[in-house]
Amino acid sequence: MSQPTAYPGGSVTRTPVLTARGLSRTFGSGATEVHALSAVDLEVPAGRLTVVRGPSGSGKTTLLNLLGGLDRPTSGEVVLDDGRVLSSLPERDVLEVRRTRIGYVFQSFGLVPVLSAAENVEVPLRLQRTPVAERSARVAEVLELVGLARHAGQRPYELSGGQQQRVGIARALVARPDILLADEPTGQLDSETGATIMDLIVEVTHSQGIASVVSTHDPVLIGRADQLVELHDGRRVDVRPSEDDD
Ligand code: ADP
Ligand code: MG
Repeated sequence: MSQPTAYPGGSVTRTPVLTARGLSRTFGSGATEVHALSAVDLEVPAGRLTVVRGPSGSGKTTLLNLLGGLDRPTSGEVVLDDGRVLSSLPERDVLEVRRTRIGYVFQSFGLVPVLSAAENVEVPLRLQRTPVAERSARVAEVLELVGLARHAGQRPYELSGGQQQRVGIARALVARPDILLADEPTGQLDSETGATIMDLIVEVTHSQGIASVVSTHDPVLIGRADQLVELHDGRRVDVRPSEDDD
């Protein structure tokens, strides 16, 4: 997967994989209008974990959905590192970006109950018509990465919550995305298990050079962030420096 890249001109630059500019999303109209997100600017760099924190209703899910091409802003834009504006691409191109570049992790894991861990992880590759041999190699590799090699044949109900979320992470990574989006991935886990899941996300983010965005309202988990984004009523209110230099 992508590592920090030397761009023409010689300098090593971290071009943000995703850039949000003036991102706003309003739901409803008139008296029922809700400003879910208001004028959010954000750069999501490769190989870094961006944590979005805020109380319930502060706009975390709305922001992640916009970054992941699952929703479109009312105003503002999401720009990809190739210069394309994700938020105004035709739906077919958005689907292509989602399929090839973005892995999604869900709070409720989203596993298919009748499929084994390996079969769940394999689903995105089947959808992409990846050849069988490559599929099994890739599934084995990514199960190893999340520490579940020995549980490949087990179904979700035979796994703990933490293990199920590891399957969810493996499935998100199997098609080698360079963007990982996780909306409260630890929300259904006890705090200790949640911390190990967060550690895993940090590890793959750094080792695979992925641009990760994770939302949480767990204060303990924000310590893992390379960049912290704090939302309140749909606005960015973070005060800490948003970039770290190394
Ligand atoms: P969070 O994920 O931080 O809990 P959300 O992004 O889900 O916050 O929601 C932000 C605000 O937008 C909330 O007031 C919520 O009720 C509202 N909202 C989110 N999605 C919709 C929708 N589809 N229709 C109407 N209001 C919505
Ligand atoms: Mg939410």
